[in-house]
Amino acid sequence: MDKQSNLEKKLLKNKKFEGAKIYFVNRERNLLLFRLKKDLLKKGFRMIVSHIDSPRLDFKPNPLYEKESLAFLKTHYYGGIKKYHWPTIPLALYGTIYLKNGDKIDLSIGEKEDEPIFMISDLLPHLASKQMGKPLREAIEGEELNLIIGSLPIKNEKVKEKVKLAILKILNDKYGIIEEDFFSAELQAVPVGKARDLGFDRALITSYGQDDRVCAFTSLEAILQDKKSKNSELCFLTEKEEIGSDGVSGAKSTFLENVLLKILSLYKEKPGLSDVYEVFSLSKALSADVTSGFDPDYQQVYDPLNTARLGFGVAIEKHTGSGGKYSTSEASAEFTFQIRDIFNQNNVDWQSAGLGKIDEGGGGTIAKFLANRNIDTIDCGVPLFNMHAPYEISSKADVYSAFEAYFSFFKK
Ligand code: MN
Ligand code: MN
Repeated sequence: MDKQSNLEKKLLKNKKFEGAKIYFVNRERNLLLFRLKKDLLKKGFRMIVSHIDSPRLDFKPNPLYEKESLAFLKTHYYGGIKKYHWPTIPLALYGTIYLKNGDKIDLSIGEKEDEPIFMISDLLPHLASKQMGKPLREAIEGEELNLIIGSLPIKNEKVKEKVKLAILKILNDKYGIIEEDFFSAELQAVPVGKARDLGFDRALITSYGQDDRVCAFTSLEAILQDKKSKNSELCFLTEKEEIGSDGVSGAKSTFLENVLLKILSLYKEKPGLSDVYEVFSLSKALSADVTSGFDPDYQQVYDPLNTARLGFGVAIEKHTGSGGKYSTSEASAEFTFQIRDIFNQNNVDWQSAGLGKIDEGGGGTIAKFLANRNIDTIDCGVPLFNMHAPYEISSKADVYSAFEAYFSFFKK
């Protein structure tokens, strides 16, 4: 924060806005990067917003238990997952935990070869005839997503839960953790592994969390590389999108207004919210988020004319939502033209996208939370296969097109 206020002082003193770079961090969860220009008040800004949270398994507040001489951690799934995807795959643990004495510990266990991993078990097929007869939605229940974390008992005849105690001893010896500390923690299990090339030709990428980090990385790269833009630029990495964007660090938070007020104080004396809204009304935003690619194995759910293909460029989506376009913002013809025109002029490979057939389902992005602030917004991102599965699939060509699209949006 000191660094930022020094920057602000410097800017105020010299009124040197051209290309000035400022960033703000919200609770270690959101990052807002600005590249400022003199005419921000007259022209507004170009903003690209993505989210850096992905579907995962969060630990419950009181997660630890022992059953049949095995120790487990209870999880609560975060975001829209197909629960049956998560048993029997290697999982790593990430997150932070606050100890009783106030110390904060960042945990990351399971990515290195010599570290243990964690796993949720599933039933052997030989005994799964009832399970296999259930609809997929019910085959694995939320309360069955329990991580196996240990099986060796402690040598103490008087204790009842010997394995749980043994695990607590390991955690205490290694990190100083006691059981109550799990209550003041944000810990999660995610699929193990780095992004990998997919296919003999290596044209596809598979990785956990490409929704929406594939758009976060490309938009960050675009603002870092763009040094000659005429526009005030803003790259916003938000979170909690997968659970509705509520809360202090979601796209509905007033963090954006709060930061804008600070930025506007560099341009005028005592700016108010009305100034912020005025700047919003002049601004343009891309909601940089992934969409579904047309998967030939599941053609029945897609409208072939209105679905993106993997490898055909960045995907522009005029609206998301469900049913009769419920719960979405729809980009106007005028704004859609502006975006299309920018991409065409810059030879960006782009394609039109939609989530699927009408009434087949639906979903949303943060676009509406930006548009509700009177900022012209359209969805623009990378099409995926396997969205929200442990390992999602994208095309390298589309990832590069997304970068080119974001770069040209900032610049033009
Ligand atoms: Mn997303
Ligand atoms: Mn998502």
